[in-house]
Amino acid sequence: MPGIYIVDVTNRDGVQTAQLGLSKLEKTMINLYLDEMGVFQSEFGFPTTRHESNYLQANLELVEIGAMKSINLGGWIRAMAEDVETTFKLVPNIKHLNLSISTSDQMINGKFLGKKKPNDILSMMVEAVDAARSRNLDSIGVNAEDASRTDVEFLIKFAQAGKDHGADRFRYCDTLGYDTPFTIYEAIKTIALNVGMPIEVHCHGDLGMAVANSIAGAKGAIDGGQDAYINTTINGIGERAGNADLVAVLLAVTKSKGFCGRYHLARPIDLPKAWKIARFASYAFKVPIPINQPGVGANAFAHASGIHADGVLKDPENYELYNFTEVGRGDPETVETGRIICSGEYSGISGFSHIMGGMEVCFRDSQEAQRVLELVRYANVEAQKPLVVDELLFIAKYPDIARKLLTLVPLP
Ligand SMILES: [Zn+2]
Repeated sequence: MPGIYIVDVTNRDGVQTAQLGLSKLEKTMINLYLDEMGVFQSEFGFPTTRHESNYLQANLELVEIGAMKSINLGGWIRAMAEDVETTFKLVPNIKHLNLSISTSDQMINGKFLGKKKPNDILSMMVEAVDAARSRNLDSIGVNAEDASRTDVEFLIKFAQAGKDHGADRFRYCDTLGYDTPFTIYEAIKTIALNVGMPIEVHCHGDLGMAVANSIAGAKGAIDGGQDAYINTTINGIGERAGNADLVAVLLAVTKSKGFCGRYHLARPIDLPKAWKIARFASYAFKVPIPINQPGVGANAFAHASGIHADGVLKDPENYELYNFTEVGRGDPETVETGRIICSGEYSGISGFSHIMGGMEVCFRDSQEAQRVLELVRYANVEAQKPLVVDELLFIAKYPDIARKLLTLVPLP
């Protein structure tokens, strides 16, 4: 039976959210954490955007040297042959690409203002796939933007044309969060049965159904005989009302009625990493985790009322669907309530040595310490908040790669 893969798009859809963003080091940490968790792919950025080039290359190097074990790093571009060319000029060793273009009449008319017809969309996409296929890529996805407002007949044509030219996956984007679980199930199952290619499900939460639609879409693909790839973001951060939350999707796939047992993740996911990745993303985006967020919210395992507290104390399964340890909770944490020395863009060697000593990192000599301190200062310039322990350890362990991803050189 086909399975469900996770393609996390925090570093692409998440970071393009209004009022929010991540430093290149924070994006790198997210790729590392997703890899540790066992996530299939991270859509790690925009290969045609110049300020991403060093970061993208540095992360591909981390894959090459084995610092990331199994994750695929995929770029996102417009489905245009010229964007494929620019991609390979700026990031020549990229291995996975998703090519995106609008498919609904609303967007074709509303964005191209009468200059393009549906057939032009097909030929632009096919040209881009041809250009991508001529390169040394491991996978190509074709994305139908606004698929939920597009005729299914046209989506079938679109996916089939992509497949005929060598695309590996078709991404169904419910760009405006317009679908319901019922409509997306039918649409995706129909496409899977007619085209016979793996389908990515990309959902937004404008009507509060991003996770439900993702699960229903995945079921549609699998019932149609194809693997499903669910697009997620950490804490559901994404444009407007956000995307399908990574942890909630994983919980829905593995714990929900009638789904778990019949539909399964194609590769094992280390769910106890959920706590760490959700908290890091919250800190990095500066967006608190809602108190009632599935799995990782402060109230997800809290009980106050007499009947509930009594019930859960007698048997947790009375009021908890799964145990808190399954999402990585329950370990004691130390919170410093006295003096704090933290990293900053104006840190000096004494404070820095104190911080690193606390993490049991020793440097060969003062020159090496000075060099790492300099990188930590630059990382702080980008992040504008103290670095977390894992970020400091990363810089100390991979100073050359850190230097590369922190290097931003605007055009003259
Ligand atoms: Zn999106």
